[in-house]
Amino acid sequence: MKYAVLSGKGGTGKTLVSVNLAAVAKNPIYVDCDVEEPNGHLFFKPRGIKNEAVTVKIPVVDEDLCLGCRKCVDFCKFNALASVIDKLIVFEEVCHACGGCMLLCPNNALTERDKVIGEITSGDSETVKVISGILNTGETSGIPIIKKLLAKIVNEKATVVIDCPPGSACIVMESIRDADYCILVAEPTVFGLHNLKMVYELVKLFNKPHGVVINKALKNNHLINDFCCENEITVLTEIPFDSELGQLNSNGEIAARKSAAYHDLFSTLLQTVVKEVEHETVAHS
Ligand code: SF4
Ligand code: SF4
Repeated sequence: MKYAVLSGKGGTGKTLVSVNLAAVAKNPIYVDCDVEEPNGHLFFKPRGIKNEAVTVKIPVVDEDLCLGCRKCVDFCKFNALASVIDKLIVFEEVCHACGGCMLLCPNNALTERDKVIGEITSGDSETVKVISGILNTGETSGIPIIKKLLAKIVNEKATVVIDCPPGSACIVMESIRDADYCILVAEPTVFGLHNLKMVYELVKLFNKPHGVVINKALKNNHLINDFCCENEITVLTEIPFDSELGQLNSNGEIAARKSAAYHDLFSTLLQTVVKEVEHETVAHS
């Protein structure tokens, strides 16, 4: 089963939930798709690290073959090409490596070269296989890295926890595409509700089964609870606003490995999610 953990913005507790869920599962895989700011590995401190470069294809122009027709310039919606005094210039920083210009050039003046945009690291932390994607600073899109990350687990039968990028942009869509269930992490504030609504719209768009985890829960979480009630969304668990948890988290510790109470909380959360997936499967079979 593949569980994607999302939040409308960074710092909501998405990685806290992802890391602890993976820590209580049996022989799981944790996949950090938050490629602009991956930090799951800081908690797992994996050993036996292997690195693999991720490359994309960038166009290269052969000036002798270029006709100066500007077809490629007009085609590129990312403005990564310009024709200046009949010389074609490639702005590789904004090139999204879609390959279109190379296909349409009438004189085969464009070829391609590999450009490294980041890497994938993998290692082990106790029984957890930890795989992280890292986008190099200044690169425009982490989607090629996420595609490569998810290709690694496409046929996985193990429990997979996908730590998604924050927000609801196309990079998040890519991260949840293959997920069996989405866990939406929200804080019980007005801003938290606003962020929850964003990711809720996204999972509805993809028709993914989903539930909510309320992080930093206070005694009165009516904002999130009311929204979930109105929209018939299951509240999977509430993680209390707790200084011990905050301390463990800020020290880069995994609460479920350090505290019996948190081991129980996240084990129960995992069981609840498994039951939700089973329920969904029966309901749609
Ligand atoms: S489409 Fe080909 S020939 Fe035309 S300007 Fe671009 S590189 Fe040159
Ligand atoms: S590969 Fe795509 S994004 Fe890059 S320059 Fe060509 S058309 Fe533009």
